[in-house]
Amino acid sequence: MKLTVIGCWGGYPKVNEASTGYLLEHDGFRLLIDCGSGVLSKLQQYVDPTDLDACIVTHYHADHIADIGVLQHALIVQKYLQPMVRNLPIYGHQLDEQAFRKLTYKDITTGKAYDPSQTLRIGPFTISFLPTVHPVPCFAFRIEAAGKIFVFTGDSAFQDSFIEFAKDANLLLCECNFYANMDGGNAGHMNSKDAGTLAAAANVKQLVLTHLPQYGIIENLVTEAGEYYDGRIHLAEGGQVWEI
Ligand SMILES: [Zn+2]
Ligand SMILES: [Zn+2]
Repeated sequence: MKLTVIGCWGGYPKVNEASTGYLLEHDGFRLLIDCGSGVLSKLQQYVDPTDLDACIVTHYHADHIADIGVLQHALIVQKYLQPMVRNLPIYGHQLDEQAFRKLTYKDITTGKAYDPSQTLRIGPFTISFLPTVHPVPCFAFRIEAAGKIFVFTGDSAFQDSFIEFAKDANLLLCECNFYANMDGGNAGHMNSKDAGTLAAAANVKQLVLTHLPQYGIIENLVTEAGEYYDGRIHLAEGGQVWEI
């Protein structure tokens, strides 16, 4: 699997950057994971939106879905120009019916509900789900392909069930919206200590911190997480590519 970071900021994007969005590719299949503010603009550096095969969203906060509408506009404009543009499936949960309905747009995109109690096959990817601890319903994804495991926490406070869910992941993409001396739990987010603790307990091969805060010295998040996990730790950054 090849993972490209499109955007990595929590809540809103820094200037000229994007909030949550990741492109996951395998065997020529292109899956966009979350589509937050700024993602459509940044995405076009790596892939033509008409070449996406599917999109999946963790939850319906704006920093994860703000650019779904403009993705739909991009596809409708391109469909006028090139009639072969395909209908894009966008997978999301159905626990917020109103938000889910917006995933479907004319004959351009189709909202598809994932059942979090079942594994889901999208192209070459097998995806399982874990409900997270967040102010609105949100799901973490464990995505497997070609014997490799990629886990994305989505937005969440720390919960013990993450440990089994992320077990032995080749790459754990963990939200880290707060510094170690801050309590992210009340806001439904993790801090650097939580991320390091999870990576160690789940025995993951490497840890990438994302959903980053716009303040403070973000490199400190790596140092802080490193007090709990002795594997490789990286900060997510737009344009970064991981081979998993
Ligand atoms: Zn978020
Ligand atoms: Zn959120």
